[in-house]
Amino acid sequence: MWQPKLSRRRFLKAGAITGALAVGSSLLRQPVGGLAEAAGGVSGSGLATLPAAVAGSEKVIPSLCEMCSAKCGILAYVREGRVVKIEGNPKDPQAAGKLCARGSAGMKTLYDPDRLKSPMKRVGEGKFDPISWDQAFQEIGPKLKELKLQYGPQTLVWAAHPELPAPLEQRFMAAFGSPNYTGHAPTCYSSRSVAYQATYGGVPGVDYQNVRYYIAPGRNLLGGIKNPEVRKIVAARKAGAKIVVLDPRMSELAMWADEWLPIRPGTDGAFMLALMHVIIKEKLYDAEFVAAKTVGFDQLAAKVQEYSPEWAEKITDIPAATITRIARELAQARPAAAVDPCWHAAFGSQYYNSVQGGRAAACLNALLGNLGAKGGLILGSPLKLGDPTGVMGPEPPKPTAPRWDGAGGKEWPLAKGLGMIQTLPLRILEGKPYPIKALIVSHLNPIRSCPDSGKFIQALKQLELVVTIDIQMNDTAYHSHYVLPESTYLERFDPVMAVGPTIVLRQPAVAPLFNTKPEEEIIAGLAQAAGIGQYFNFTLEQYNNALLAPFGITQEQLKAQGQIKVNQKPTAPEPGEESKEFKTPSGKIELASQAIASAGGSPVPVWEPPLVKPQGDKLRLIQGHVPMHTHNTTQNNAYLHALMPENELWIHTQVAARLGIRDGDLVEVTSEVGKVRIKAKVTEAIHPEAVFMAHGFGCSSPYLTRTYNRGASGAALIPILVAPLSGAAAQCETLVTVRKVG
Ligand code: SF4
Repeated sequence: MWQPKLSRRRFLKAGAITGALAVGSSLLRQPVGGLAEAAGGVSGSGLATLPAAVAGSEKVIPSLCEMCSAKCGILAYVREGRVVKIEGNPKDPQAAGKLCARGSAGMKTLYDPDRLKSPMKRVGEGKFDPISWDQAFQEIGPKLKELKLQYGPQTLVWAAHPELPAPLEQRFMAAFGSPNYTGHAPTCYSSRSVAYQATYGGVPGVDYQNVRYYIAPGRNLLGGIKNPEVRKIVAARKAGAKIVVLDPRMSELAMWADEWLPIRPGTDGAFMLALMHVIIKEKLYDAEFVAAKTVGFDQLAAKVQEYSPEWAEKITDIPAATITRIARELAQARPAAAVDPCWHAAFGSQYYNSVQGGRAAACLNALLGNLGAKGGLILGSPLKLGDPTGVMGPEPPKPTAPRWDGAGGKEWPLAKGLGMIQTLPLRILEGKPYPIKALIVSHLNPIRSCPDSGKFIQALKQLELVVTIDIQMNDTAYHSHYVLPESTYLERFDPVMAVGPTIVLRQPAVAPLFNTKPEEEIIAGLAQAAGIGQYFNFTLEQYNNALLAPFGITQEQLKAQGQIKVNQKPTAPEPGEESKEFKTPSGKIELASQAIASAGGSPVPVWEPPLVKPQGDKLRLIQGHVPMHTHNTTQNNAYLHALMPENELWIHTQVAARLGIRDGDLVEVTSEVGKVRIKAKVTEAIHPEAVFMAHGFGCSSPYLTRTYNRGASGAALIPILVAPLSGAAAQCETLVTVRKVG
């Protein structure tokens, strides 16, 4: 059994990551002479008070950050038409005025000299000419019509990181007649979603603020930062909560937590099963909750008898005594105790066994009786916004062709709505189940976020039409026929959204600096040119006003504060749902899941080993987030680039010594699908069977001059896989070898 020699205290002294964060705060502290402080006054419930007034031509615009998807409230300070500072909006119901480094650095994205300034048309390998919007629409629209006529509407795929305009993207696809809207989910959270949908009928969140005992299986709240969650977990720990992190690597959260358990990668499910073994055997679970709210307890109890802490020790590298102790501590803290459902982490989508592991964690949470309890899990229904169909014109007919990836079909019933974007290159190249000839990409850079970037590029070259909508010439844009520049989040309105009982608005702080458009105008222009313009005869303001109608407010009124708290009675249950507390087949929390069984899986969670096994010099590649960057979108931002210009390959001290690698050496990392070069970071803070690299680096677009060729992209190394039940990309099932090259 491997146990690290490195204590967290020693690692913190080394200052590798905390140092970078500290630099962040000083770098981002921008003196703004002459600006008044934003002193209170932003009422969440009324329209009376504006954000702090500032002198002369200066103003403060309340809006929403888009440096990641968390949508923290911001105040953009504008002087003489220029954004000079971004602060957190103290009235924001989520982040309460706190921003992370990325949020504070947003104006460097607005003023990035490398950003797209007009529509671009490809005129040769890596060469683009600026064109007008009219020309772009008048060339793309007829091409779409031509391809539709020749191959059917399903020949078009739309790939997105779904953001606020996602319903409009989906409407475009429905109007065109294609079922093929896909995106980010299988590379992030598909398995977690399938596991919790099957168990609870929805994906709960954690009441981070009030939790007393919190286990993070690979979740790195201080790396993949969502500000609102960070401030809550920090408050919980201050109030005495215990934080336990399971991670093969000493992540930012592991460094800060009370306990880091350096688990063997891909074995978190075994750990969860053993916790349940102890909790059930010692009758530490919430029997009343289990009897009232769940089905399948007897089946679960019978199964987990097999999974003792001694059994799990051999699989996980965590001592049996530790597992037993954690189980008892966790149960003692219930119901203010929770295992994080996770996003990208161990149960998100990373391993072949992530659904089973996620199911084990979901059942463990149910044994704690924590659902709805203070400090437990929250399964809320969001505020119901108004129905915009009245202003949107005719409803598009439902597409009749099946999806190219089979998601939601007979073979993949649980992957409904999640899709399998990683299979797109294969289907394009094979022409199966039908020819795919056109692709629109928005807010996504699949060449650097999906497996096997070499294959993705090869597939893009087969397509007759590739259109990318983005703010910068990312890797995928670089291989597109047309690149349509979206206005940044500081230059545009977006559809409104609800956060708890509050409705929030993204609005422009400044007019667009260049010849860019907000996405809804790009979609309407494409629709008009492609012969489906009748579905887009409305403005965003009309759309937003329809969403706001039930609350008697308008976009114009919302602009003043950027957010308004509303009162709404709980929505009535859907017909047929009246007797169901949970949206599962039984209406209860399913410890034995009918949905999983119908899809061919074990109804109760079972141990399934990960797909690949590191042996000798073949090491498992794992990836994760860092606090200074969001996926592959922020690396060209001047401030964030200064904080972290490139990634490194974390490799264990003993493994590095065996391979003759020293800290800072240039190494070549090779997998079955590709190879990259990257600097080595030799450390004891990683499991010896694994190597780690932060994802999002290794930009291959020379148009992004600051980040071009800095660091390495894991996407070049990861083979295309499809995990059972969820269809997730299982990206940590990648074996690599490492050799020193410089
Ligand atoms: S977590 Fe950071 S980057 Fe994300 S929305 Fe909030 S401030 Fe912006």
